[in-house]
Amino acid sequence: MTAPRLTVDLAKITHNAGVLVSRLGAQGIGVTAVTKACLGSAAVAKAMRLGGVAGLADSRIENLRTLREASVAGPMTLIRSPMLSQVEDVVRYADTSLNSEPTVLAALSAAAVAQDRSHAVVLMVELGDLREGILPDDLLAVVRQTLLLPNLVLAGLGTNLACQSGVEPDHHNMAELSRLTDLVEAACGISLTIVSGGNSANLDWALSTANVGRVDDLRLGESILLGREPLRRRPIEGLHTDAFRLFAEVIESKVKPSEPWGHIAQTAFGVQPRRADVGDVNQALLAIGRQDVDPDGLVPQGPGRIIGASSDHLVLDAGPNRLAVGDEVAFEVDYSALVRSMTSPYVIKVLITAS
Ligand SMILES: *Cc1c(COP(=O)(O)O)cnc(C)c1O
Repeated sequence: MTAPRLTVDLAKITHNAGVLVSRLGAQGIGVTAVTKACLGSAAVAKAMRLGGVAGLADSRIENLRTLREASVAGPMTLIRSPMLSQVEDVVRYADTSLNSEPTVLAALSAAAVAQDRSHAVVLMVELGDLREGILPDDLLAVVRQTLLLPNLVLAGLGTNLACQSGVEPDHHNMAELSRLTDLVEAACGISLTIVSGGNSANLDWALSTANVGRVDDLRLGESILLGREPLRRRPIEGLHTDAFRLFAEVIESKVKPSEPWGHIAQTAFGVQPRRADVGDVNQALLAIGRQDVDPDGLVPQGPGRIIGASSDHLVLDAGPNRLAVGDEVAFEVDYSALVRSMTSPYVIKVLITAS
């Protein structure tokens, strides 16, 4: 079989989604499954749906369009603020979008009017991670503006933590989101149905707190796909961490010294740390590189250690046993390696369906 190859075990994804749906369900929280790491793969989205998630979400409208055109069922949310240049497609392909800019809200409204549709919006609140979100002091004003816009339905509030600055979701910032929800409802005489507390980084909080407050939704990608929580990248008990496997092929295998010789300047990708002299090693060259994957996010399955990477080569210290040209090496991927290998046209994707 051709390499490099990323295998996707759909039953493991369904299992992970199902376990998270039931654990969070017990806390009164629904799951919106995020498909962006898989480029809006319809097969992966369907596997997530089989696990019982309430809806699907992606950061790119192109991916939601792919899902719609593949007849994947269920409500769909765009989780990155729409580009002004894409509002027509956002209204056409997404039921809901997450928003933080009044200009974009007005444009979504105009597009919804033109298409004679209704579009739901969730207003994102900045709670300290300093990526997207309306500052709490400005929230009521934006809510009032939104309520005046025709064909837009204000569905609720959301926030996103841990992505930009690593701010942990905890009882302080989650209670603040609940407080803002109550405040908006009281001040404007409306009721909000979606209070979206965040991403996979919210799991520790959501599964351990005695009081989730108003939070009734989490948007989960990494935890479903890779079975890990992203704050400390610990495996989540009962979930598969190996739904994805990357295979690369050996194109050279030789015993070489561990230290380079000659005068050392920069490499193709900047200054590399000096390698320690450990004598000769079984070096293997694999036909995969930075174009295809984030080498730092790969864990070789079996003996062997990654000692370098350039655009098209990955250099492995194969350990005690020499690999043969043509052998394959399997890797576990982290989120960064997953996203990059999914995006590389050179990496073949192989779906494993239940046998
Ligand atoms: C990517 C993203 C998510 C999903 O994050 P995971 O850590 O993969 O669960 C949720 N919400 C927003 C706004 C995102 O951009």
